[in-house]
Amino acid sequence: MVSGVQPTGYLHIGNYLGALRQWVLHQEQYENLFFVVDLHAITVPQDPKGLAEATLSAAALFLACGIDPSKSTIFIQSHVKAHVELCWLLNCVTPVNWLEKMIQFKEKARKQGENVSVGLFDYPVLMASDVLLYQADLVPVGEDQQQHLELVRSISKRFNSLYGKKKRILKEPKPLIQGNTSRIMALDDGTSKMSKSSTNDMSRINILDPPNTIQRKIQRCKTDSLMGIVSDPVGRPECTNLLNIYAAFTNQSLTQAEAECREMSWGQFKRVLTDALTTSLEPIQRKYHELRKDEDFLRQILKNGSDYASSIAQVTMQQVKDCMGFIPIH
Ligand code: ADP
Repeated sequence: MVSGVQPTGYLHIGNYLGALRQWVLHQEQYENLFFVVDLHAITVPQDPKGLAEATLSAAALFLACGIDPSKSTIFIQSHVKAHVELCWLLNCVTPVNWLEKMIQFKEKARKQGENVSVGLFDYPVLMASDVLLYQADLVPVGEDQQQHLELVRSISKRFNSLYGKKKRILKEPKPLIQGNTSRIMALDDGTSKMSKSSTNDMSRINILDPPNTIQRKIQRCKTDSLMGIVSDPVGRPECTNLLNIYAAFTNQSLTQAEAECREMSWGQFKRVLTDALTTSLEPIQRKYHELRKDEDFLRQILKNGSDYASSIAQVTMQQVKDCMGFIPIH
């Protein structure tokens, strides 16, 4: 199983519930590779110092959230050169019109206008190489990535039909979508996804937000004027989203959380939600700050991870290059 997070800012509870927490749950079940996708981050402009800090911070958060390096491989994408190499080879088998259909590109390109980079357009092919390089069976993704994963499968299929003859060279991975937490919505708008890239920090709870910031954000988040805290995705998107977050952080189903909160006022509900968030995030934050004090330790884990990942990646690269007709070094 492979998955990644972009170091484009502070990781938020959407990343935690939709990705990191799921990764931890799957640690025992699969062989996992989790990486900080710094090469993806630069598809939109990044401040170099900010990128370096966000990369280390994301890696430390993987560990703080419970990823155990003795069970899972953790590394930084750019440390394994094969990601870029395979990306180029796959670029040459991917039709342009497949990429033109990607909703995320269209949305981001609309925001950026003429400054949009070739890298942003090509992002899904790099993602394909991230996954296919390790012959992954499963990719745990939030709903937002489903279209990209479909593309990964199409690229794999096309590569195999062009070069595999009767052999399958690349696997076709499947998405692992997790129910209610696959799409946590923004605090200022229950119809748009909570995201690192939003300019409004009040739209998200970052994993590292201190208790008073969490309290302030929940205090000011968008609500409605209706009575009772119930799930109604169409009529009450903000209420549904907050209830969903509460359910996730108290390890309840949505129905259980609804039964608990149905009669609460907004004031009461915001208090229990704030408590659930601060108590759940406190141990993660403590672990994170400990890890950041010992950068050598963190870097050693990342080095071990990239060494191991490179060894797997090389096997795939060799097979891919052989069947495409590249001559190996004598
Ligand atoms: P972002 O969109 O915040 O920049 P990434 O693209 O780095 O996040 O995504 C990292 C992982 O977190 C992916 O598996 C993605 O599907 C998941 N994810 C991101 N945002 C959310 C969200 N709001 N709800 C659930 N999962 C999310």
